[in-house]
Amino acid sequence: MKPLNILRKTSLFVALTVLAGGALATDFSPVTTARLSDAAHDNGWLMYRRDYASNGYAPFKQINTGNVSGLKQVWDYKTGFQQGHEAPAIVNGDYLYITTPKDELIAFQASTGKQLWKYQHDLSQVGLKTVCCDVVNRGVALYGDNVYMATLDNYVVALDGRTGKVVWKKQLIPADVGYAMTLAPLVVKGKVIVGESGGEYGARGFIEALDARTGKEVWKRYTIPAPNEPGGKTWPKGAYKTGGGGAWLTGSYDAATDTLFWGVGNPGPWLATLRPGDNLYTDSVIAMNPANGKIKWHFQYTPNDTWDYDGTNETVLTDINYQGKAYKAIVSASRNGWFYAINRLNGKLIYMKKFATATSVTGEKDGKVTTDPALRPTVDKQVLTCPSFLGGKNWWPISVDPQTHLAYVPTMHTCMTIKGTTVSYKAGLPFLGESFKVVADPAFKGQWGEVQAIDVNTGEQVWNHPSALPWNSGMLSTAGGLVFSGGADGHLYAFDAKSGKVLWKSPELSSGIESVPSTWKVDGKQYVSVYAGWGGATPIWGGDMASDPAVTNIPLGGHLYVFAL
Ligand code: CA
Repeated sequence: MKPLNILRKTSLFVALTVLAGGALATDFSPVTTARLSDAAHDNGWLMYRRDYASNGYAPFKQINTGNVSGLKQVWDYKTGFQQGHEAPAIVNGDYLYITTPKDELIAFQASTGKQLWKYQHDLSQVGLKTVCCDVVNRGVALYGDNVYMATLDNYVVALDGRTGKVVWKKQLIPADVGYAMTLAPLVVKGKVIVGESGGEYGARGFIEALDARTGKEVWKRYTIPAPNEPGGKTWPKGAYKTGGGGAWLTGSYDAATDTLFWGVGNPGPWLATLRPGDNLYTDSVIAMNPANGKIKWHFQYTPNDTWDYDGTNETVLTDINYQGKAYKAIVSASRNGWFYAINRLNGKLIYMKKFATATSVTGEKDGKVTTDPALRPTVDKQVLTCPSFLGGKNWWPISVDPQTHLAYVPTMHTCMTIKGTTVSYKAGLPFLGESFKVVADPAFKGQWGEVQAIDVNTGEQVWNHPSALPWNSGMLSTAGGLVFSGGADGHLYAFDAKSGKVLWKSPELSSGIESVPSTWKVDGKQYVSVYAGWGGATPIWGGDMASDPAVTNIPLGGHLYVFAL
């Protein structure tokens, strides 16, 4: 392979290849199931959270605590859009893929930033009226020779990874009837798995698996059971049809037990007095057989949710030792302000600990989560409770570092006032039944955000980094002893993984950051990337936080940055 590598670097060879009509002479090896199963150790960044366990951890140490201060920008790309930019760069060999908020998919040479191709999904005929929380996209999946994107008008698109040519497109459900897709797909054993958003529109959520080669449906699993299915009796008559339960973030997969884990969002409408019962599988993690979508078990973070806490946040597979006992666990920092460890073999709660001010959810009894009836709004009653519906943490994923056994948790400190209103269902219109306002958390005045490190063996905080601005970026940890995440202040930060000390921050980028950093190696050199591009739910729904001048002054505009030593 060595002579070929040298040859690749010569411009003559590149020019000849382009003249011959081929792709650039950069590496693109087919992304096999074997490579995806070992993605944690790949030189690229092959899926949304790097590996099936969703750790967001890379074993690279070229950039480390000793030299991170020497990181420099090597290339960048401006998207021209002002919406929230949330996708991580996904990298195979020397091919890098990034999506824009308007469902463009762009391929670059990962080492140089040379644009290879661009696919623009046609959104001109759709109103995008059922996209709740800004027009966004969270990136792609890879399998075989293809790259896959889910779109705002409910298509899954498969493109040739080398050329950008469309291989197939499939629309799961029409646009503007309540559904949209914003998540990065997950490929498991040749199936492209996606979930729909729509919990704010009463859309009955579902997860669907498509044949990666053809786009043909393999299975479709509604997250809200019909009356004759297990869990169907946790809903009043007929309510399942508009029960919400969006599955709007990427799940994880455990090959040891052949189990797919996926988080499910809030019930519809938001006002719980309209739908008594536990409302399964809303605000839950469900464990499924990836061959057919059959549900093996579930764990519900917030029963009969009336605060829009969703249950969609990351499901990180990690082995923990709690009170002297070893567990194969899932950990997740839930919107409801509690950090959960769940036994991933059977769905039983191991522990739940508060990581933010949390009053709506009070704890657990016999392993079932309990809530405070006094903090449930009705049509006649406004309550003040914490956290706000934006959550102790929203979608931006935690990272779990196997070296430190710490979970790095981007945290938001807000509470809310919330009151019931009347509502009736109409397809494609919001289905909430509540009015609300995000307010400051009195316990964290002048501090909308924070990065915390939580010991996954105990659920206790080890270090924290307070932030006056909200912290809306996902986390990346590396074997170099570093944790990367982007501030709303437009700096990419590198923290010491053990102490939380800021070891480096980038020059101020052109916008605030609410994306997910990723890292990869090409020809032995390590790169780190992050998207700047403030937007998403916080500025739209953030109440007093959104109107804080420090937040309204955050510059907008999408911009991908790549750094190296
Ligand atoms: Ca929601």
